[in-house]
Amino acid sequence: MNQPRASEPSVPISVVDVIRKKRDGRGLSRAEIEYLVHAYTIGEIPDYQVSAWLMAVVLRGMTRSETSALTDAMLRSGEVLDLSDLPARKVDKHSTGGVGDKTSLVLAPLVAAGGLFVPMISGRGLGHTGGTLDKLESIPGFNVNLSVPQFRGVLNACGCAMIGQTSQIAPADRKLYALRDVTGTVESPYLICASIMSKKLAEGIDALVLDVKTGSGAFMKQEQDAVFLAELMVETGERMGKTVVALITNMDQPLGLKVGNSIEVEEAIEVLRGDGPEDVRELCLELAGWMLHLGGAADTVPHGKTIAEQLIVSGKALERFRQMVALHGGDVRVIDNPDLLSHSKHQSDVVSAKDGHITAINCEAIGTACVALGGGREKKEDSVDPAVGIVLHRRLGDPVTAGEPLCTIHHNSETRATRATKLLLESYQISDSPAVAKKPLIHRVIRGTGEK
Ligand code: URA
Repeated sequence: MNQPRASEPSVPISVVDVIRKKRDGRGLSRAEIEYLVHAYTIGEIPDYQVSAWLMAVVLRGMTRSETSALTDAMLRSGEVLDLSDLPARKVDKHSTGGVGDKTSLVLAPLVAAGGLFVPMISGRGLGHTGGTLDKLESIPGFNVNLSVPQFRGVLNACGCAMIGQTSQIAPADRKLYALRDVTGTVESPYLICASIMSKKLAEGIDALVLDVKTGSGAFMKQEQDAVFLAELMVETGERMGKTVVALITNMDQPLGLKVGNSIEVEEAIEVLRGDGPEDVRELCLELAGWMLHLGGAADTVPHGKTIAEQLIVSGKALERFRQMVALHGGDVRVIDNPDLLSHSKHQSDVVSAKDGHITAINCEAIGTACVALGGGREKKEDSVDPAVGIVLHRRLGDPVTAGEPLCTIHHNSETRATRATKLLLESYQISDSPAVAKKPLIHRVIRGTGEK
């Protein structure tokens, strides 16, 4: 394991000057960025100063070299795993954040069952989007806080392991991620790039598949912004010697039918069983196809998809999930009996006020409704309720008649449910015209120059 930590600056740097410089749109030096990241990680700079700096970055942006310096400083805030002793290639996938996106839970065991190693460092819910760690923790006993030796042990034993940033791996991202979540500073391609790539580069992987979301539920609402972010991340990864591919995928409505922590675990298990909603299945197979191809276990992406399908049909992917859950200390009984996951005390339907077709969904509002129910964090110290969430009954293009349920809210508080209901009712656009041009799930692929 390498320990290339950022060093102290040779000349004193004033945090206020760094904030002012960025506020005024001036570029920061590598030394200034390194200092800020290092000092914040060790607790020398308070949240309020870093919040001001983050907001300045959101508003003023960063150059390529600033972004690279930030990614590098965040990567070097902790250790970089050396997994070169593992007997197969290491691949991972990371999403820029979506609503109902449970693909990581399917992909880690699926690709591990295909013979590759998947050392996955994931995040918690961010803004209106869900987080893989919060979903995993809804499995009773599942420990996402493994030490590095424990992480290695799980990886060795079953080919995949899923943890969060630790005080050892990318600790700067852990702190910055939590601060961005509650200061309205998530939506910056430069910050998203540094956050994702610092974690991923610390994992000791050979190849990475990025799922860059675009649409009403994504941080990048416009396709050109998603493409910009994808290119930034692919370029950053390649500069560090990794094979990186980014898929631009649709997030105009939640992925699948379930949005929430326990209920998304249920849906991921359905997909691992060969069932589950078609869009979740399609995206999982496409991403798995790429991971297996980049990892050298499949000659082409279609070949990788075929392998992934077979691993699901044969039950090998589900079996690998079972092993991983057990090794993380989780209760494997939930896999055959999802009733053992936490369930909300109450359920209530949100019904359509009129006849028509669903012509648009404000997917971000659905994510925000889930956060309002307690499924995500509004403040840094909030704990997440694993049981709450939203089950969709109507999706884009579907017909609906007045009085029919659009979705069902799973909740533990009437006050929270009232807020969520309002958001959900506002998020569905229902009109007389049935015509809604459905966008494909996968819009395009951004390849790096080194991709085979
Ligand atoms: N996922 C991350 O890990 N970081 C971000 O900033 C956004 C999505």
